[in-house]
Amino acid sequence: MSLSVIQPPAMLGMLGGGQLGRFFVIAAHEMGYRVTVLDPDPNSPAGKLADVHLCAAYDDAAALATMAGTCQAISTEFENVPAETLATLAQSTVVHPSAEAVAIAQHRVKEKTFFKQAGLPVGPFVPVSSEADLPPDGELYPAVLKVARFGYDGKGQARVANHAEALAAFRGFKQEVCVLEKMLPLDLEVSVVLARDAQGHIAAFPTAENSHLNGILDISIVPARCSEVIKANAQELAKKLATQLNYVGVLGVEFFVVGHQLLVNEIAPRPHNSGHYTIDACVTNQFEQQVRIITGQALGSPKLHSHAVMVNILGDSWLYRGKLVEPAWDKAFAHGDLKMHLYGKHEPRKGRKMGHFTVIGEDAQAVLNTAKVARSELHIGE
Ligand code: ADP
Ligand code: MG
Repeated sequence: MSLSVIQPPAMLGMLGGGQLGRFFVIAAHEMGYRVTVLDPDPNSPAGKLADVHLCAAYDDAAALATMAGTCQAISTEFENVPAETLATLAQSTVVHPSAEAVAIAQHRVKEKTFFKQAGLPVGPFVPVSSEADLPPDGELYPAVLKVARFGYDGKGQARVANHAEALAAFRGFKQEVCVLEKMLPLDLEVSVVLARDAQGHIAAFPTAENSHLNGILDISIVPARCSEVIKANAQELAKKLATQLNYVGVLGVEFFVVGHQLLVNEIAPRPHNSGHYTIDACVTNQFEQQVRIITGQALGSPKLHSHAVMVNILGDSWLYRGKLVEPAWDKAFAHGDLKMHLYGKHEPRKGRKMGHFTVIGEDAQAVLNTAKVARSELHIGE
């Protein structure tokens, strides 16, 4: 509501208690703020560190009233938080990002339509809300059918070669609204995480190069190993996107690189997994920017001070031989340039993000080599 600066030790609110919320709590605490986390899971990673953990659903009226009454500014780490929740809270306290921006980011049809209207490059796609919307053979195939809502880490997606397969997949998704995207021959995937404040200032972090395994981010390499033109172009497109969306907060923008062309894939209205390297390799990290934006403090410097390679640690590292084995953490810690981050999740499950590590250093090749050694010591990708 107001643009005045909120000073520590004010209470801030975080919707969602996963690892992104946990890093927000850590950043806020470092900066002298207190945090109330809303998450229905009593063991949520952020809830355990928060000053107050409201253990309730994201649409629980009493919990939202408590947040609105006790938090001076609120943000989200959970992109599927009901947009109405943000709108309700915004009636009585400062909330960033806005319900409108989150509503676009959480719906693939709205998201891609917005990209097109904003003049941003996107791959060919069609919205699918009924079987009749599925194009005939030849037009868009091979393609990927994605549910419009609640998909993440490759979930709610099916690769389809033709109309018959698309039809079967659409029925498999219970005819929920989907987008059908042309399968693109990707040369690379890159992302830009940026922070945009209420006055429209933007601090963009360097372009990261991302590789995925089974639809989940595996490794981010920073700076990305592609031409300076592509890196700069990604920065410009991400800034244009944030400005056109009138976005206030931390935004993750994912791109496909096809030849010399950059295409916007999707956006996340929150800090992004591919921005975790900023914790160890930038002057200000993405979570600190989130705190700065909602409190009305000036943005911090996004400057990269080291080369960085971030590797995700999934529950698979505990389960790689079919039984539960604690990974050999000592081997990873033996690398002096490796920064370990474990999220305090109780139960390792296949595909569940349990932590990540970032290797930093002056020499890009040495950093990548160390990261690859540590990755295999933790049996990642096996
Ligand atoms: P989410 O990250 O929400 O699961 P994405 O749309 O980013 O969904 O898809 C996950 C990954 O699947 C992408 O990072 C990319 O590797 C691959 N992918 C998605 N869409 C396409 C496409 N149209 N062509 C080629 N690869 C794709
Ligand atoms: Mg993605």
